[in-house]
Amino acid sequence: MAGIRFNFPAPEIDQSINELRNEVRAFLHEEIRGGGFVPVADCWCAGVDRNFSRKLGQKGWIGVTWPREYGGQELSALHRYVITEELLAVGAPVHAHWIADRQSGPLILASGTEDMKRNILPRIAAGECFVALGLSEPEAGSDLASVKTRARKVDGGWEITGTKLWSSGAQHCQYMTVLARTSDPVEGSRHEGLTQFLVPLDSRGVTISGIRDMSGVEHFNESHFESVFVADDSVLGQVGEGWKQITSELALERSGPERFLSTFIAVERVLEQASRDLTDREATVLGGIVARVRALRAMSLGVAALLEEGKSPDVEAALVKDLGTRFEQDVVERLREFGPILWKRGSGDLLDDVMADSLLRQPSFTLRGGTNEVLKGIVARGIGLR
Ligand SMILES: Cc1cc2nc3c(=O)[nH]c(=O)nc-3n(C[C@H](O)[C@H](O)[C@H](O)COP(=O)(O)OP(=O)(O)OC[C@H]3O[C@@H](n4cnc5c(N)ncnc54)[C@H](O)[C@@H]3O)c2cc1C
Repeated sequence: MAGIRFNFPAPEIDQSINELRNEVRAFLHEEIRGGGFVPVADCWCAGVDRNFSRKLGQKGWIGVTWPREYGGQELSALHRYVITEELLAVGAPVHAHWIADRQSGPLILASGTEDMKRNILPRIAAGECFVALGLSEPEAGSDLASVKTRARKVDGGWEITGTKLWSSGAQHCQYMTVLARTSDPVEGSRHEGLTQFLVPLDSRGVTISGIRDMSGVEHFNESHFESVFVADDSVLGQVGEGWKQITSELALERSGPERFLSTFIAVERVLEQASRDLTDREATVLGGIVARVRALRAMSLGVAALLEEGKSPDVEAALVKDLGTRFEQDVVERLREFGPILWKRGSGDLLDDVMADSLLRQPSFTLRGGTNEVLKGIVARGIGLR
């Protein structure tokens, strides 16, 4: 194992980043005080509030790293980091715009047409346009190269037929990025012949059906495409190059603070409500949680710094997601030491709601965005063990 090194550089945090953090924090506390939103667990997946997304858009806090001509603020990945971190820490309802801000917007910026950039990015930045991810299928999850959705070339465009599964928030979105096969896999190069399309979800032939998860939320969907026509300029990037695009999206998808802060709102609530002195045992539990958050945060910030340098830190991102998602699951188990074994929703106590939802949602943390077994495989390959 000698010689194996990971690169998590400590970023420079300049004054403008701290000022932005304070501004976001003050806005969020004001919103909570004024009843603008009720904090929720797993807010970036379960909290949908279009009005709140629009408010963030008006503040200029969506798409902050994008060029001004496309609705952005030309700020750094670290500015974006502190905004997302503050939103997650208070359980703000950010799901509607989360994926578009995190990865579909950057994908359009890197691979979209000028028309997409001019018409769609400013609407995303305004918190008015949302995009779903159409990768997984009934028989393709970890092994994405086996997608069966087909795009057939027709006059003036493409005809897409297939089913996408687990598409988070698609019922709220205007578009989906759909990974489809545009030519048959060639022996030995299964990753070729895949293409990404930006599909308007109001197109004829699209059906979206909600799937209820065990927390009672219809967060994800089955999205069916029956001979859906899209014009030639709906192709994202180059025909047949979809795989390369997806792999470069993954560092964005896997390394952010949402991969370890999904249940942090519960920690905040427990600390707020700990009116009595903590026992030694409780102090040890909370100390352990805080120490792990600190380490994960340093790693996740390191990935943001690498992204800022224009690098593609896929292996570091996979490591953050593996450690981070296990941590956010573990937090829920540890916090059960502070209260009842089972927490019930609807008692009127926010901690009850947050803990009940965290318990029911935590199994998904180590699945969504790539399972932990698959992430370990990426890390192993990255450090030369496979
Ligand atoms: C809450 C949630 C939201 C989601 N949102 C979206 C979304 O918006 N868009 C989207 O496209 N998808 C989404 N997904 C799907 C997610 O990406 C897949 O569930 C995930 O990639 C795993 O695929 P699968 O479910 O088909 O499991 P499988 O790939 O069938 O895996 C089953 C088991 O086998 C293991 N396994 C598979 N391959 C290997 C391997 N090579 N080595 C070791 N173990 C392996 C896995 O780790 C897992 O334990 C979401 C999932 C969840 C839970």
